[in-house]
Amino acid sequence: MNVHRLRQIPSVDRLLGLEATQKLIDAFGREETVDALRDVLDAVRDEVRRGSEIPDDAALAARAGLRLEELLTPTLRPVINATGVIIHTNLGRAPLSQAAREAMDRVSQGYASLEYDLEAGERGHRTTHAERLLCRLTGAESALVVNNNAGAVLLALTAMAQDRGVIISRGQLVEIGGGFRVPDVMAQSGARLVEVGTTNRTHMYDYENAIEASDDIALILRAHHSNFRVVGFTSEPTLNELVELGKRYDLPVVDDLGSGALLDTSRFGLAHEPTVQESVETGAAVICFSGDKLLGGPQAGIIVGKAAHVDPLKSHPLTRALRPDKLCLVALQETLLHYVRGEAVDEVPVWRMMAAPLSEIAERAERWRETLRQAGVAVEIADGLSTVGGGSLPGETLPTKLVALLTPHPDRLARSLRDADPPIIARIENDQLMLDPRTVRPEEEQVLLENVEAAATLMEA
Ligand SMILES: *Cc1c(COP(=O)(O)O)cnc(C)c1O
Repeated sequence: MNVHRLRQIPSVDRLLGLEATQKLIDAFGREETVDALRDVLDAVRDEVRRGSEIPDDAALAARAGLRLEELLTPTLRPVINATGVIIHTNLGRAPLSQAAREAMDRVSQGYASLEYDLEAGERGHRTTHAERLLCRLTGAESALVVNNNAGAVLLALTAMAQDRGVIISRGQLVEIGGGFRVPDVMAQSGARLVEVGTTNRTHMYDYENAIEASDDIALILRAHHSNFRVVGFTSEPTLNELVELGKRYDLPVVDDLGSGALLDTSRFGLAHEPTVQESVETGAAVICFSGDKLLGGPQAGIIVGKAAHVDPLKSHPLTRALRPDKLCLVALQETLLHYVRGEAVDEVPVWRMMAAPLSEIAERAERWRETLRQAGVAVEIADGLSTVGGGSLPGETLPTKLVALLTPHPDRLARSLRDADPPIIARIENDQLMLDPRTVRPEEEQVLLENVEAAATLMEA
């Protein structure tokens, strides 16, 4: 019986003769259309075996059309971040400044002086553009840019400590998230992990004993805790103490700063995140940090420090494998120029968001409430907290005003906001769907409100 019905399923050839299919071929190409028809017919065969009826030819073509549209719908798309988490790793970390975006656009249209020295008229190096600015801003003797900070740490450890020992406090054997674990990166580099101290307390003598006990220690590593806080009965030598110890034994200190701020976060009512300048001044040999955390630039790993240690990294084979592209480098250059010009707080979005006064956020929240209320959406304003995110300043918060969408089904509303174009990512707190204006760019406001209104109205219906 089923076998008989299976034979009645149309062939790809028959469906190709339909007018609807011809339209698909025009839009998506013949090869993709044939593939889609085959997939649909395979699925239908399974359904018929399980007892379903055979859809008519027009329905089969329509199903193939849906498949093709799905295939061509981009999955990496801009979204509106209404979560209030400023450096949201899942949402692409730092938004770029206007100058950085425009420079990327200009450089992507044609050719660029990427590895060309315009003065000398000969071959140059791709990372010199950002390096000269990095040295100027941080006071370091030398700088190098790679793909991301995980790569920067891997490169430093591989080049400086392969087959040798690296001393690190047990309190710093951290997992940053997204697969970056200090012990694993160390293993990958070929360095031998020499853990000292305990989870909560590590003393200078722990480091000293480890150095005395081994004759192949290459360096001392300090890793910033980044995404967690150690409180209570805790202690850890300062970077300064480690550098002094290093001097006594002729060992360089590598400082994985993680976020790597160039400005003082305490200006904005937050705790003080260690700055790159402080590490340079303290005398760390090599300092690694991210380009897209508190720096507010593109994804990149930045290495600065003493020329004697950083310069050799530039010619290491791994460096070639980790090299950043021209779009990253031009965005980084423009981001760094904001700091050189002293305009980072106004121009670099992550700093602008951190610096936004509560009164400004409250004004925006009230404007949102009015617009939504007039459209018949039930909203309230609530006090709340924004966070910096990106593995920096754990537990630190910025007071904010949240726009709460009053609905008995916050999950369903959140889902339909994600279906909007552009998708809106909100947060659910106390069973309420909250929008934090702090991380929503002013130019996104109108489309956000329109889409919230549409989604909320749909829920009512
Ligand atoms: C974020 C972070 C990293 C990883 O940096 P990526 O730029 O994401 O590769 C490494 N170490 C620390 C301490 C971090 O905070």
